[in-house]
Amino acid sequence: MEEKVCKNCKIIISHGTICPICGSDDLTSRWGGYVIVLNIEKSEIAKKLDLKLNGVFALNVKE
Ligand SMILES: [Zn+2]
Repeated sequence: MEEKVCKNCKIIISHGTICPICGSDDLTSRWGGYVIVLNIEKSEIAKKLDLKLNGVFALNVKE
C-alpha cells in the first residue's frame, strides 16, 4: 500500500485522497522519512517543521 502526503501540511495519509487537515487533494506519493508527533506542544521537531497537530508527518516531500 502506498501512502500519500499532503503537500501543504506534510501529514501522511493512509486512507482516502483528501487531506484531513486542510481538505486539499494535492497529495504526493513521492516522500521519504517520517516523524511521529505525539505531543505537539513539547516537540522540538514539530516547531522546526512548523506543525500544528499531532500525527505522522513526512520529512522530505518532493514536488
Ligand atoms: Zn493538508
